[in-house]
This record gives sequence, structure tokens and C-alpha cells, in this order.
Amino acid sequence: MRLVMKFGGASIADGEKIKWVAELINRYREHDVIVVTSALKDVTDHLLERADVVAESGRIELVQELIENLRNLHHDAAKIAISDEAILDSVLDELNSRIHRLKQALTGICYLGELTSRSRDYITSYGELLSSPILSGALRAIGVPSTCLTGGEAGIITDSDYGAAKPLVDVHERIRRELLPISSRCVPVVAGFIAENESGITTTLGRGGSDFSASLIGAAIHADEIWFWKEVSGIMTADPEIVPEARNIPLISYIEVMELSYFGAKVLHPHAIEPAIRYDIPVRVLNTFDPDFTGTLVVKDQNQGKEVVKAVTVIEKIALINISGAGMVGTIGVAARVFGTLAKAGVNITMISQGSSEANISIVVEESHLDRAVGAIRSEFRNGVIRELTTDSNVNAVTVVGAGMAGIPGVAARVFTSVSAARINVIMISQGSSEHNISFVVRSQDAEGAVHALHRDFGLDQPPDTRENS
Ligand code: ASP
Ligand code: MG
Repeated sequence: MRLVMKFGGASIADGEKIKWVAELINRYREHDVIVVTSALKDVTDHLLERADVVAESGRIELVQELIENLRNLHHDAAKIAISDEAILDSVLDELNSRIHRLKQALTGICYLGELTSRSRDYITSYGELLSSPILSGALRAIGVPSTCLTGGEAGIITDSDYGAAKPLVDVHERIRRELLPISSRCVPVVAGFIAENESGITTTLGRGGSDFSASLIGAAIHADEIWFWKEVSGIMTADPEIVPEARNIPLISYIEVMELSYFGAKVLHPHAIEPAIRYDIPVRVLNTFDPDFTGTLVVKDQNQGKEVVKAVTVIEKIALINISGAGMVGTIGVAARVFGTLAKAGVNITMISQGSSEANISIVVEESHLDRAVGAIRSEFRNGVIRELTTDSNVNAVTVVGAGMAGIPGVAARVFTSVSAARINVIMISQGSSEHNISFVVRSQDAEGAVHALHRDFGLDQPPDTRENS
């Protein structure tokens, strides 16, 4: 089999873990494996945060401090992960020269006091630029021929939209051209998340982008499967921190992953696996620290099994905006103006609902966008139409997800019966006509209770084949 395996930051958080990951990869030696790696846990966040502080404060000692931290972190990891002296030395040399280049860039940013989006991409690329040589060295140290590559070296060439660069149309060909000759000789370890434009300037694919790198590569080389190794047991029926009885979902469709992720489940971003799904490449989410567990298989087809509801999630950090006014009734274009205004203000909308009386529209936005949203609507509708605008940020949204509920009557009734039996008041409801989810807003303090009730009443705490959930 031709396999792309992607390891997240938590899977390679330190030297011991990197060593373990190398051994895990070695188990699959009989296959053609291409590895894609993230940065060591939290390194990207740290780089981003420090780069901002350095640019703002101009304090050069902060550059020194950051560089020392990164050097120690990566040197320590390499020393533990790589047991062969000569290989370790060459990896440390490579790390040192990369760290030196990072230091030069940070110094420039510090003196200029300016961090452009282009330089931000350059700086953040160092998370993966430093992790990939260590993992590749750890593989060589246990006798697995390997080499590390940047995204650009692996053929991932993008436009120059720094921070969220998009691959060029012929990226698949480029990836095949660069990567296949190497993967026939050894196990390439590709730095995820980072790419370059046609002039060779570093770009990044957006936060969490190493999953995207992996599915792009998987699609390009027609991989048999793409395996996302994470520190969790696949995709779960609910957040185990809220619902301890949450279970793994063995099989899920892409559309359900999409619904789940819009509604707060962070395991896989649908955008990140879109290339894999488009080319019909099965995606697995596996647990690095429990590798024999079957995890979750994500497939393109909607699995219209007997299960109607697959998972329940909650989105915190949201806020509700209610706008109303008699002037809205029958007035064409109000909704368009509201949403156009919010889009221009860069507000992300999570849910929308309008009653057929047309006298009010309820919108759920990210809490951090609330002030911007309110300001934008107020100024757009300075003179009338909207009479009243109220907000409430003490709310959470709860979502019930399952592609199987499309066209099945009674699911909404069961959802709201369950919630009302738990004596929880529902503030707003929304269901898209795709019918793959039912979402509703409750007071923040009621959200966990609602999730518990639904999880139990739809039998998600029971093994899938014994559930009465159809
Ligand atoms: N290191 C990058 C980030 O933290 C990409 C990734 O880990 O997927 O966003
Ligand atoms: Mg809130």
C-alpha cells in the first residue's frame, strides 16, 4: 500500500515521543510510506506570539531568549530521539544552521519593528523546519532510510496569499515529480503546513495546515490511504471532557466531519481533508499512543446506516445577536445588507434564523467578533429599518450531527423532547436544509446538561451495534 502518515504536534511533543513515532513508522516498512509532520507541540503558537512581541517592543534580548528556548527544546528532543552519534551530530548541525537563519530574521523584525504577513509566514515555518530533521534522523537511527523535505521541496507550490496560501493548479503534478523519486528510495519526512510560492518565498497553508499538506500529498500521489496520527482515539461521539461516556465513531462520512467541525469538534478540519475526499482516498484518524486501536475511518459516501445521530457537540465562545423592527417585514434586501455588512467587517457567522414573520433575525457569531458585528450593523442601519438590536454572550450552541437524519421524521422531536426533559430552555433553533445537523442555542450553564441528555437519549454511550438510534 501507498500510505501518507501525518503526525500532529502532540504526537511528537518531545524526544521520547519522536522516538516512539519513528518505531511506529518502522512497523509499516512493507508499505510505501510518506510522512508529513507538524511542529513540536505549541512551537507554532510560541513563534507567532513571540514574533509579535519582538516586533512591537523592539527588545532584542527577547530574540535571544526565544532562540535559546527553541535550541534547547529541539536539541533535547534530538538527543533523546536519535541514538546514533553520527546521525545526531548531522541533525544538530542542520538544526543549528536553521536556528541561525531564524535568529537573523527575528533580529531584522526586531530592529524594523515590523512584522509583515510574509515575514510572519517565514517565522512560523520554523516549527516544522525544526521538527522534520529530528523525525527523519530518528528514522535513520533505527535503520530506516529517510530524508527530510520542506513543503516546497516536496512540490507544494502556492500563490502568495501569506498565512493562507493556496496551492497552484498543477500542484499534484509537481508533488508527484518531486516526491515519488524520493519515496521510492526512502521514507520522506515532509514538513507540513509550509510551502513556497513560485519565486521560492516561504508561504504557509493556514493554522493547522499540516493536515492539509498530508491530504494534498495523498491526493497527488494517489495514496491508498491517509492516516492522521493524533493523540486522541479518533473522532468521538462527544467531547470526552464533557461526556466521559463518549465513544469512538468507527466510520463517519466526510459530510458529517464537516458538520462536526463547524460545530466545535477539533479533530479534523474538513478543509484539510477536502483534497483527499475529492479524490476518494480513505482517511483514518488513529491514536499514536494506542496504535492498535482502529480509530475512525472517514469516507466520502454518506453512511446511511441505521444510526441517525452520530455525535453531539457544543460551541462555546459564541454570542447571539437579535435584530428586529417592524420595518423589516416585507422589506427586500435587509438580510442581504445585514450579512453583507458582517462579511465586510470580517465577522464569522455560525448560525442564522429568521422567523417567517420577518420581524426579526437572530444571528450567532464568534464571541470575539461581537463588538465588530454590532458596530457594523449599527452603522449600516443608522437610519431606521432595524428598531432594536440586542446581544447575549452568555450562550452556547449545541449541535446534533448525523447524515442519517436527512428525511427521517421525528428526529427533531426526539432532540427537543430530550432537552426539555432535562428542563433546559431553548433560545434559538436552526436546521439547514441539508438536514445533517440540528443546532440550537441555550444558556451557557445549560449546554453541558443538554449534551449529556442527548448523548444518553440517542444511546451514544452504548456500543454502535446495540444502539436504539434509528
Ligand atoms: N504547526 C502548524 C500549526 O500549529 C500546523 C499544524 O500543526 O498543523 O498551526
Ligand atoms: Mg458565549
